[in-house]
Formats: sequence, C-alpha cells, structure tokens
Amino acid sequence: ATPAATMVGSTISATNGVLFKGGDVLEKARGIDAVVFDKTGTLTHGEMELTDVVPVEEARSDGGEAIGDGGVLAERIGEEAVLAAAAGAESGSEHPLARAIVEGARERGLEPDDAEEFENVPGHGVRATVGGREVLVGNRKLMGDEGIDPAPAEETMERLERDGKTAMLVAREGELLGVIATADTVRESAKRTVAELRERGLDVVMLTGDNERTARAVAREVGIEEVRSEVLPGDKADAVDALQSGGEGTLGSRSTSEPRSDGGRRAMMVGDGVNDAPALTAAHIGVAVGSGTDVAIESADVTLMRDDPADVLKAIRISEATISKVH
Ligand code: ADP
Ligand code: MG
Repeated sequence: ATPAATMVGSTISATNGVLFKGGDVLEKARGIDAVVFDKTGTLTHGEMELTDVVPVEEARSDGGEAIGDGGVLAERIGEEAVLAAAAGAESGSEHPLARAIVEGARERGLEPDDAEEFENVPGHGVRATVGGREVLVGNRKLMGDEGIDPAPAEETMERLERDGKTAMLVAREGELLGVIATADTVRESAKRTVAELRERGLDVVMLTGDNERTARAVAREVGIEEVRSEVLPGDKADAVDALQSGGEGTLGSRSTSEPRSDGGRRAMMVGDGVNDAPALTAAHIGVAVGSGTDVAIESADVTLMRDDPADVLKAIRISEATISKVH
C-alpha cells in the first residue's frame, strides 16, 4: 500500500471502531480463506450464569434410571452442599466459570468458605482445599486424572451439554458430589455475521476449550459447522497452525469438513482472552475484540473496539475497499 492509501484505510477504520495496526495489515487481510472464532466471550457474551446444581444422587437417577444405592454415600449430599463445595474451591479462581459459580452461590444465600489451598489446572478446572477437605471442580479429564469415575453423572452431563451449557463435575475427598452447569448467551449479531462470511465463500470455524457437545450446540445456534473443541489453552496456536497448513490437527480437536484440496487456509483468528493471544499471533491475521484482555489486543493485528462480531465483516470490507484503491 502507498502511505496515502494506508492513511485512508486507517482513518476510515478508526471512525468505524476498527483499528488496524499499520497498512500492511490491510494488505494481509486480503485473500483470507477462513475466519476462526473463539467461542466464549467472542461469539458469546462471556457472561456465564449458574443454571443447574445436581447432586450425584439425583444425577444417578436422571432419565429414570434409578440405581438407588443411597447407602453408598456417608452423608446425603444436597444441592447446597454441592454448590458450597464448588464455590469455596472456585473462590481462588478468576476464570469466568469460577466467577459464575461463586456469584451463583451468593445469590442463593450461601456463604462458602474460602479455599485454603488453591491450584488452577488450565483447561481442566481447579483443585482446592475447603474446610480442610480436598475439592475438585472441572471436566471429565480432571476427574479421570484424579482417579474419580465420572460415569454416575454422565447422563446429567450430556443432558446439560446438549443445551449448550458448560457442565462441571464436583468431587470432595475423592468422592463425586454432583454436577453444576453454567450458561452463556450468544451475541445477537453472531448468526448473521457467520451467514454473511459464508456467503462470501469464507470457511467459518469455531475454536474452543469447551467440550465437543457444548461447542456443537452453540455452533449450531450460530450456523457454524466446523468445530475444534477441547483444545487446551496452550494448544490453540497449534490448532490454528494445523488449519493453516491443511492438517486436521491432532489435539483432541475434531473437524467436520475436509481441508481444501489445495492444502492450508489463510486464517483470520478472532478472540478475546489471554488464552487466545498465541493463536492471534499464529493466524495470518489476528483480531482482538474490544473488551478482551490487553494481552490479546497486543498480539492482534486488528482490534475491534466494540464487542460486536459483525465488525469482523466491517474489517474485511474496509481492507477490500482500501486495497482496491491501491491496485
Ligand atoms: P475456553 O476455551 O472456553 O476459554 P478453558 O480452556 O479455560 O475454556 O477451559 C476448558 C474447560 O475446562 C471448561 O469448559 C471447563 O470444563 C474446564 N475448566 C476450566 N477452568 C475451570 C474452572 N475454574 N472451574 C471449573 N472448570 C473449569
Ligand atoms: Mg475465551
């Protein structure tokens, strides 16, 4: 781009709430093949709310399949006990899921003990000591790694996940207590943005650390078919690299559509979180959404000043308009 054209592009974009880091970014935005969206906080509002608390006793009889072994548990675990244990453990975490659980407990009039010891297990959950007892809150993998069988809660987990909720298991002193779930809401413009991107011939992909079933439910809601789920925070950049080199990726991520026959796709990655920063850097073009973390914004080529996925289209249109003036 000539300096003049760059200036024009930057000026127009700034007034539209889209900031490009330099003129070559406008050039680079040309010829992208795919737009990869982070799920939480990007396609959704990222404001989770606690929706369900299911003690394992109920979870076991979910779907009418009563096992009826109430004698197994030393004490009968009710909803409040499950939630109090979870909220206590999560009091040490800044994760949006943790905040939803702590806030949900407070709204229900509980005052959980703070965690005495706390450990974050990235992409899996938390391990903490609450009231002298070890509490785990997280996904199936976290429980499995700790030798706790999540099977008794499986039906409940699946039911909640099919609704697009993030379901988490709660265990205390090696014993499964129950399931808690949070829900997030899809941003209003997400669906029509995805539709328009696809009309333009672009592939649209969702990349998330969340589980396959939840990711699919949200993807269906916004019209995305290609989903890479259960991608650990440290693996998001590799997932983008795999997509760009035409690989399927071997990261526990699953994809429904085949990569193009010509191999890799040039990707625009759109994200908000600390987790997303390396992926923003790995992508051909990294786009940070406005309320995202500073790390994400620093790593990005483009910053959307508002939290509107539709501004991704605006960024593409601006770059096309600017480029067509130059060439
Ligand atoms: P995302 O990519 O959506 O930001 P993360 O990689 O942070 O998700 O987390 C992936 C999964 O790990 C979550 O869906 C959840 O099951 C589990 N998890 C992560 N952090 C926590 C937490 N603080 N409490 C409970 N579960 C958690
Ligand atoms: Mg996120």
